Amino acid sequence: MVKYKRIVLKVSGEALAGEAGFGIKPPVIAEIAKEIKAVHDLGVEIAIVCGGGNVWRGETGAEMGMERAQADYMGMLATVMNGLALQDSLENIGVPTRVQTSIEMRQIAEPYIRRKAVRHLEKGRVVIFAGGTGNPYFSTDTTAALRAAEINADVILMAKNGVDGVYDADPNKVATATKFDSLTHLDIINKGLNVMDSTASTLSMDNDIPLVVFNLNEADNIRRVVEGENIGTTIRG
Ligand code: UDP
Repeated sequence: MVKYKRIVLKVSGEALAGEAGFGIKPPVIAEIAKEIKAVHDLGVEIAIVCGGGNVWRGETGAEMGMERAQADYMGMLATVMNGLALQDSLENIGVPTRVQTSIEMRQIAEPYIRRKAVRHLEKGRVVIFAGGTGNPYFSTDTTAALRAAEINADVILMAKNGVDGVYDADPNKVATATKFDSLTHLDIINKGLNVMDSTASTLSMDNDIPLVVFNLNEADNIRRVVEGENIGTTIRG
């Protein structure tokens, strides 16, 4: 029995880069694709939102003197490259997919059309949302919250790279850091916890979308979360 029937899986750019921390590493993506297939085989409807930080972040460009909006558009393009790489890996192992981009580029992907995305999900296709929200100054975390609300997803799965949930301090730096099993969206905002940016948090809170933060680097974790195992940190309410 699965706990969540329709999910939005947020995969950060970092997760696609492996240990290098940057760039696109097909063998790493192939591993993630296998994990996604295992959940797809359970009949779960899966939408994926790709980040782009492994290739380019708008903020970094702005820090180096670029106009922020221009740099952000480059970031959105980076998410499209990741989306295509993920599509390639999934289709390699027989998972039907569609990429939908928030900014039209019809030669390589469908434009984002909400009703079409839902139809694809109903037909068992994994839908990859690329291009973020299509707007500068936003993040792919916000995209995950927005798309989850739009398609009535049961949950957002925030797949993290090497961190197994939300802590009260950085577990890589503070030995006494303690993991939360559950939190509210308001806790995240009030305590300033590093889960998603505040726009994404408020959007998730306002639309009552639960969030599970978990470690992507442990085999089988996506399936375990979908089947309702209490791993990671669950955020609700
Ligand atoms: N971005 C944007 N609008 C969006 C989503 C993303 O401008 O709606 C840009 C932004 O510059 C961001 C980059 O795309 O830095 C990559 O996305 P993000 O940083 O969210 O990726 P992640 O950290 O998940 O890899």
